[in-house]
Amino acid sequence: MMKCATRTVFADKDFDGAIRDGADELKKGGLVVFPTETVYGLGANAFSPEAVKNIFLAKGRPQDNPLIVHIAETGQLDGIVAEVTDTARALMKAFWPGPLSIIMKKAKAIPFEVSAGLETVAVRMPDNDIARGIIALSALPVAAPSANTSGKPSPTLAMHAYEDLCGRVPLIIDGGPCAIGVESTVVDATGEVPVVLRPGDITPEMIAQAAGDVRVHPSVLGEIKQGEVCASPGMKYKHYSPEAKVTVFTGGKKEVAKTVNTMYHNGKAQGRKTAVLCLDDCANLYPDVRHIVCLGKDAREAEAALFRVLREMDDQNFETVFFHAQEEKMGLAVMNRIIRAAGHEIISAKEEKV
Ligand code: AMP
Ligand code: MG
Repeated sequence: MMKCATRTVFADKDFDGAIRDGADELKKGGLVVFPTETVYGLGANAFSPEAVKNIFLAKGRPQDNPLIVHIAETGQLDGIVAEVTDTARALMKAFWPGPLSIIMKKAKAIPFEVSAGLETVAVRMPDNDIARGIIALSALPVAAPSANTSGKPSPTLAMHAYEDLCGRVPLIIDGGPCAIGVESTVVDATGEVPVVLRPGDITPEMIAQAAGDVRVHPSVLGEIKQGEVCASPGMKYKHYSPEAKVTVFTGGKKEVAKTVNTMYHNGKAQGRKTAVLCLDDCANLYPDVRHIVCLGKDAREAEAALFRVLREMDDQNFETVFFHAQEEKMGLAVMNRIIRAAGHEIISAKEEKV
């Protein structure tokens, strides 16, 4: 990996200049970190295998993990996908621009470096003026994963991308905090019934309403068995992980609190620096916990806070993070990310005797 100087430009100071710099870098075959409404992306010209290879090098991303192609208008689809099904069309109409990546059959012009060898490609039109601005001005489709070192929590502030990628990318466009905070929903629309492969802010219910039906792939919350063919390759990796050991607790509110409080005190006795993460309405269940981080009141707020909070855990050298899950209130996207951050370390408070 070539080392390079990293320059940050601030879109709120000079929007047009930031867009110009971003588009120029993409046209040169370079990498650009840019904001989207979900998380910061690390973009390159999706038609250039060399540019795309540099994304994998900069992130340390496994070669078999495909990238999402970002577009500014539906007119760009022609050179990217070979077929747009009725299902895909309905989803685009309902959710673009927005946090939904739609998997379609890929066109020849999209290199296998982008799709990681698959015959399909995920495409998305972000709901962010800076993202769409650089894509439109460069007149290129932009392949972009999240702008973090592979395995780390995705960046929701430009500073997070800087921490991970300084010296590895020439340009970071700072556009402030990402509004949503978790990556896009990924949905396979090659068949009649859309299949959710990765949950995000757009829920299966919303997809069913737009497309008439929906399936959720079992890997969304479950563990992927060794040797199993993976529908969405990114799902098989341990992900979103801070250095701290994350444990997820599920079950009734009171039972979870009882278990977490007991384990917290055991850990404290051994001198372990531990934080408890929960929604606002559970904070009062932890009167003796010193470090308690509230993620907000609902799924939306928890999505926006989660990755930033996981990074803060590392900045403050926490060794242990106890996550008080409320599956219904937190939603699929948050549950999916935290279970992966925990490497499937889940304790069901109902069964656990402490
Ligand atoms: P990231 O860009 O880091 O948010 O990761 C993109 C994710 O989208 C990958 O990890 C895959 O799980 C999923 N994805 C992208 N393209 C495809 C595809 N063609 N088929 C299935 N899943 C895909
Ligand atoms: Mg990612």
